[in-house]
Amino acid sequence: MSEIYFDNAATTRVSDEAARSALDVMTSFYGNPSSAHAKGLEAEHILKKARVQVISGLGYTTKDGNLLFTSCGTEASNMVFFGAYEVLGKRKNNIVISDSEHPSVENCARELERNGVEIRRIPTKGGKLDLDFAEKAIDAKTMLISCMLVNNETGAVYDIKALDAIRKRNANDAYLHTDAVQGFCKLPYSLSALGTDLISVSGHKIHAPKGVGGLFIKKGVRLPSRMFGGGQEAGLRSGTENLAGIAAFGKAVDEYMNEKSERLNTLKNLNTELRKNLSEICPYVLINSQEDFAPHILSISVPGIRSEIMLRFLSEKGIYVSAGSACSSKSADNRVLSNFGLSDKTADSTLRISFSKYNTKEETLILAKAINEGNSSLIHTV
Ligand code: PLP
Repeated sequence: MSEIYFDNAATTRVSDEAARSALDVMTSFYGNPSSAHAKGLEAEHILKKARVQVISGLGYTTKDGNLLFTSCGTEASNMVFFGAYEVLGKRKNNIVISDSEHPSVENCARELERNGVEIRRIPTKGGKLDLDFAEKAIDAKTMLISCMLVNNETGAVYDIKALDAIRKRNANDAYLHTDAVQGFCKLPYSLSALGTDLISVSGHKIHAPKGVGGLFIKKGVRLPSRMFGGGQEAGLRSGTENLAGIAAFGKAVDEYMNEKSERLNTLKNLNTELRKNLSEICPYVLINSQEDFAPHILSISVPGIRSEIMLRFLSEKGIYVSAGSACSSKSADNRVLSNFGLSDKTADSTLRISFSKYNTKEETLILAKAINEGNSSLIHTV
């Protein structure tokens, strides 16, 4: 059975080039970047090169700040929350996030809430930040403002620049962080334009392997160490680096930079083609994502059919999509879709289709036909 993979917001296939970089590190350049001999220096060179590649992909240079390699996007955002609390928590008492954050941010906020920090959540109805709410929520007692760049369930792109403007007016010394795990390498502009102090990114969403992520820290922004040991990663995250993953991450960003407009066009065309095929073949399908959302995510609802049932039906045909976000698919948590404005009934029948450069227009047609077949043969339960 041939397979069609439309779950690229959950994770992506590693590109051949990125996989080759990892293999080269594991089998040839396997020195420890901290070793003083030639094999170590060779490894250190690879580490430095990957750091520059990821920093450049964000639109910065090494003069603007540092990129810390982590194990994943979740770890990067955890460092931000608990670090900001340690640095500013004695003087300030609240954190502002959106009401649609990924669990890697939402659950950090909940943990700090248990420590007495007030969490203020900006509504995101229809995929737009309520900036009037943000204007009132962000004040001199705010230690951290954290808002994702692209929503992992709907593809909505949030206005981080507007949050920076409010921060400058109301809370100039608060940290501004964006979880750009879904936004990195998916939008036409450079993330350096957003004005954030801190950016979380992840390798496995952009054709690098799982197990590597990064946190960009703008020059002058202070974060304490969360991991103590040999002092790697500027002393903030000790432990021998995952050099194979890091080299692959750097290579994946480099590939994206080299084929940026072609890659973004491909995603946009796949998105447009699937919308067209759905409207022609299954006009009853609701399309939740707006056209100006990120190109790689399309949220749809098939009225009456529970998403897990359609997901299983498609999976048996070798077509892989997601019900809501992969990270929350094992819990019946409609928090994000409900805040977006969907009723529980619609949210329960929502699927997330997410594209990569490896998908084709023909696959979008096969998917639309399969959804239509499922709609006629499956029992409607919602
Ligand atoms: N943030 C967003 C928006 C995500 O979609 C994800 C993963 O799905 C994460 C954070 C977590 O990233 P990682 O798997 O690298 O920890």
